[in-house]
Amino acid sequence: MTGMMEGKSGLVTAAGSGIGRGAAVALAKAGAKVMVSDVSEEGGQETVQIIKDNGGEAAFFKCDVSDEEQVKALVNKTVETFGKLDFAHNNAGINKGLKPIGELDSKDWDITLKVNLYGAFYCIKHEVNAMLKSGGGAIVNTASGAGIEGSPNMAPYTASKHAIVGLTKSVALEYGKKGITINSIAPGATITPAIEGWAKSSPKQYEAVLETLPAGEMSTPEDQGNAVVFLCSDLAKQISGVTLAVDGGYTAGK
Ligand code: NAD
Repeated sequence: MTGMMEGKSGLVTAAGSGIGRGAAVALAKAGAKVMVSDVSEEGGQETVQIIKDNGGEAAFFKCDVSDEEQVKALVNKTVETFGKLDFAHNNAGINKGLKPIGELDSKDWDITLKVNLYGAFYCIKHEVNAMLKSGGGAIVNTASGAGIEGSPNMAPYTASKHAIVGLTKSVALEYGKKGITINSIAPGATITPAIEGWAKSSPKQYEAVLETLPAGEMSTPEDQGNAVVFLCSDLAKQISGVTLAVDGGYTAGK
């Protein structure tokens, strides 16, 4: 993928850990200048350092995607720093309220929708307006397998991720003629720091989950990042409105 993103610049949200970090590092390895954003300054700065250690170019901007003013500032800062916004990976997502809906605290519903769905809306809104100024661009959202199938005890998360799939389709129809593509990735179980910790503390449950996966293994943040690079690159210019499952085939039978 070396050189695939040469001359392009953009942003990744929630890039201080896991999938967002995987995407930011992969985009930079492919030649892009990357604005690494996260609500955690520590995680975000670590990602910037990884990119710089690999010989890439990156900067950090702190942003909580559930606050529209912070999102607007992130987009503006990216354009100010790198000159234009060619791509954006809207990746921030949380999963609160792991209970049946009758027991759900409305606060968990509100915060999950606020980060996952409103955050994506704020990002897309300001990103398309920035991209229109430079002739177009590519947006990739992070949905989930939970955006394709139902998941018990995860109603707010599942609702928000299904909504991302629909949002992606609508925006694709609105902005195709203006040179903007928009797609989502739907990661399956992906080895992030949280899952690594759980795998170490619960090896039997971890092995049982692996048994359910057609590929026999979880994906890595790098696997997710590679899909993001492709969807942000010119190779994907005819792909828009799509949610790409990156899950080793898990949702193929759903
Ligand atoms: P992670 O826990 O490794 O990292 C999440 C990052 O998001 C952290 O750095 C955190 O500081 C940041 N963050 C949290 N709230 C934020 C906010 N309001 N604004 C900006 N940043 C915020 O997470 P991950 O597992 O890499 O998940 C990333 C995305 O991938 C999420 O949208 C998640 O729903 C999705 N996803 C993950 C998996 C998986 O198995 N890991 C599967 C499907 C989908």
